[in-house]
Amino acid sequence: MNKSSESISYSTIHTSPDHEDDKFHEECGVVGVWTTQDAASLTALGLHALQHRGQEATGIVTYDGNFHIHRGLGLVGEVFADPQVIAKLPGGIAIGHNRYATTGATQLRNVQPLYGDFEFGGFAVAHNGNLTNAQLLRQSLVRRGCLFQSSTDSEVFIHLIAISLYSNVIDRFIDALKQVQGAYSLVALSKDMLIAARDPLGVRPLILGKLNQNKEKECWVVASETCALSSMGAEFVRDIEPGEVIIINDEGIRSIKPFHNISHRFCIFEYVYFARPDSIIENKSVYIARQKIGAELALENPVEADIVVPVPDSGVPAALGYAKASNIPFELGIIRSHYIGRTFIEPTDQIRNLGVKLKHSTNGSILKDKRVILIDDSIVRGTTSKKIVEMVRAAGAAEVHLRIASPPTRFSCYYGIDTPSKEKLLAHTHDIDEMCKLIGADSLGFISCNGLYKALEEKERNNEKPQYCDACFTGDYPIQLTDHDMNLTQNK
Ligand code: AMP
Repeated sequence: MNKSSESISYSTIHTSPDHEDDKFHEECGVVGVWTTQDAASLTALGLHALQHRGQEATGIVTYDGNFHIHRGLGLVGEVFADPQVIAKLPGGIAIGHNRYATTGATQLRNVQPLYGDFEFGGFAVAHNGNLTNAQLLRQSLVRRGCLFQSSTDSEVFIHLIAISLYSNVIDRFIDALKQVQGAYSLVALSKDMLIAARDPLGVRPLILGKLNQNKEKECWVVASETCALSSMGAEFVRDIEPGEVIIINDEGIRSIKPFHNISHRFCIFEYVYFARPDSIIENKSVYIARQKIGAELALENPVEADIVVPVPDSGVPAALGYAKASNIPFELGIIRSHYIGRTFIEPTDQIRNLGVKLKHSTNGSILKDKRVILIDDSIVRGTTSKKIVEMVRAAGAAEVHLRIASPPTRFSCYYGIDTPSKEKLLAHTHDIDEMCKLIGADSLGFISCNGLYKALEEKERNNEKPQYCDACFTGDYPIQLTDHDMNLTQNK
């Protein structure tokens, strides 16, 4: 059996006696590296570029004959700040994970990559996405004697692999994939291979890249988004396909497609908000997609005004598209501080309110006496929009027209985007006029669902066979919500 070493950073741990963070919806970023040495540094660089996908916790597992693990709460730059930490993660293969949990305290036991010592040796897994039958599986695994160490849905992979009756690691891994429902982009590490896998619908992104640092050995990277590649000095090879499992070992790289081919449903909200704008997903630049969404929003929701102002940073590309299409000047009427985290991760409404003010300030000289079109990517609870409209008015704007670069978010996501329960979604409980009144804008307009599809696909939504997962806007959930339907998770 291989030895494994584990270090953890406790500096920022908060414990939560009632496990209030024990929810099963997490946004995350994953990285895998197959090279000859220094895999931990490369992984940390990749995770740093994927910081927007998860800011609460991070971890890396490497292998050099033994497994080495370091996981901690905080940003990549904090958890891996000390060169001694990276020095204790030797080896040429590694996987890493950034975690973005929901409200409440984060516990170290939920920080990934998860690691286990199996019959066949050590095995580590990092998961982006959210499983929809994890609770049901967990119940039956616990009944069979599996001892869960964390409350994250991802841990079911570990136990399903452990109890699988197949003899080799790949077959066990695929056996586990065939039992889970939901969204997953996975990277996994055993003593002699790196594995990457994407769920059959391809809800979350995952890409393959190549490192050109070594002439004797082919070196590979896997990451959630292409924006990680340049930080890692890697070149883009291709998107990992929905339903594809990639295995990298000393013999090279191979691809397995263990599932029947079904229509893909990539998450449309990755284009709207979640992915980094410099990423390319399935041959589409996220930045250009957002500009096109802004242009379509201008066509659908025109209004006479003097300036177009983005809510930074997420509203910037759409506002550029809106300004260009409407021929109204683009101005930075709101300035964002980059020195605080996302307001969304703050646990209570009161703190979230304060957070919005800390994060954004108005640029009075631009806004005074102007008719302003404010552009943001989405309205979730409405906290941000309300505060921003208030601030823009206080800065002297004559009119404030709010335009949103996505349809109203009326339904919760169960596949890995952190949205609150549907009762807390402003658009679930209010119509557009009511929302406008509550937010205090002179007018409010959203892009339509078909408008969003036209911007991305140059055609409308195919209602028979939708091109994307758009459940947060339409309530059309492409993967069964088993736990939710059986009341096994907190209902959203
Ligand atoms: P809210 O204040 O709850 O309406 O949140 C809306 C703001 O949060 C928008 O400015 C979005 O850019 C951002 N946002 C939307 N969805 C998410 C998410 N899943 N995670 C973090 N931030 C989000």
